[in-house]
Amino acid sequence: MSKSFFVDTTVCTACRGCQVACKQWKNLPAENTVNRGTNENPADLSFNTYKLVRMREEVIDGKLKWLFFPDQCRHCVEPPCLSTAGDPAAIFKDEATGAVIYTSKTKGLNAKEIIESCPYNIPRKGKNGALAKCDMCLDRVQNGLLPACVKTCPTGAMNFGEREEMLSLANKRLGEIKKISSAAMLLDADDVRVIYLVAYKPELYHKFAVASVFDFGITRQMALAKMFRPVKNIASRLV
Ligand code: SF4
Ligand code: SF4
Repeated sequence: MSKSFFVDTTVCTACRGCQVACKQWKNLPAENTVNRGTNENPADLSFNTYKLVRMREEVIDGKLKWLFFPDQCRHCVEPPCLSTAGDPAAIFKDEATGAVIYTSKTKGLNAKEIIESCPYNIPRKGKNGALAKCDMCLDRVQNGLLPACVKTCPTGAMNFGEREEMLSLANKRLGEIKKISSAAMLLDADDVRVIYLVAYKPELYHKFAVASVFDFGITRQMALAKMFRPVKNIASRLV
């Protein structure tokens, strides 16, 4: 059975333990940053930063709220990036877990096209031309360990396990949070393996929190990627 994450943003404290654990496990360097007047740091995902805790301050119903969103690759069930690449040596899906994996062969892809195909604005290009993003800590998962971000999260915001188990947990928590905030929702739960629960409108957390609401162009890209996948797959088998 495939795996999924459940990210309960309602109990995230923005400690950034997950962000640091990701760096540590992947042996990724820190980034030079500047003080931008926010605890969010660095400013964006990068070739060396696969996980970023986004932070927003919003006034909702007259009260100041801190909204935290640990952003990462969603490991889409039908990944538009994978369909767009059409090259299993560069981007492939691990069938057992559902993890979407990028290899060094992404150097040979049209990076702009791959980045634009992602409805969540995730892949980043490195100096060597390759693309990088979260790989679900597949090495850990294949050895019976939790992804580093989940293992380190002290509040229960990051969860990981069998997909059915995560969907059940997500729906249980949604029911609880709905009693407090009627705007609570799960983000694109049927389409992704990183299922976020938010208490308020997703656009308040991050422009790319959800694929289907913001950008018609992006949603259309997903549909097109799905439509053309068989053609691309056939083409990749011929080379
Ligand atoms: S979130 Fe983006 S990079 Fe991750 S699998 Fe989906 S399309 Fe690919
Ligand atoms: S480790 Fe958990 S609580 Fe801390 S920022 Fe990450 S998801 Fe939030």
